[in-house]
Amino acid sequence: MDRLWAPWRMAYVAVERPVGCVFCQAPGDADERRRLVLYRGETCFIIMNLFPYNGGHLMVVPYRHTSDLVGLTPEEQCELMVLTRHAIRALKQAVRPDAFNVGMNLGRSAGAGIEEHLHQHIVPRWHGDMNFMPVIGETRVLPEALLESYDKLKAAFDHIGMPQP
Ligand SMILES: [Zn+2]
Repeated sequence: MDRLWAPWRMAYVAVERPVGCVFCQAPGDADERRRLVLYRGETCFIIMNLFPYNGGHLMVVPYRHTSDLVGLTPEEQCELMVLTRHAIRALKQAVRPDAFNVGMNLGRSAGAGIEEHLHQHIVPRWHGDMNFMPVIGETRVLPEALLESYDKLKAAFDHIGMPQP
């Protein structure tokens, strides 16, 4: 296992869920690292999940506050997929996963944590990873581990350059 993820095995620190829509607030903050924003496109951005299912759990999110996948503009639809592929390229570079889960939970009953602002999950997977990270949707994180991951992923995004349409 990559050293990057080793802190997950250590003690956890509880973090409060933020008030308001984090997907509307995060991209407007100049401090990208504090907000875990990794890439800003024209209509969508890439952000790390503060409550990850697995190490390196990213999300692609339209800037527009909407839960309606059907109502996305052509530009939003296109960039959502372009940035999903961009995120996968960066994750391959940074953490060399064996596989990925990619997808959306639309609506509370489907498991959406923030149902009012749609977001595409990109979860890197490693063979046997659920053996040491067994709880899906756990809401406790170690902030230092997240920031260490952020720095490694940010370097990968810088390295791979622009998204490929
Ligand atoms: Zn929002």
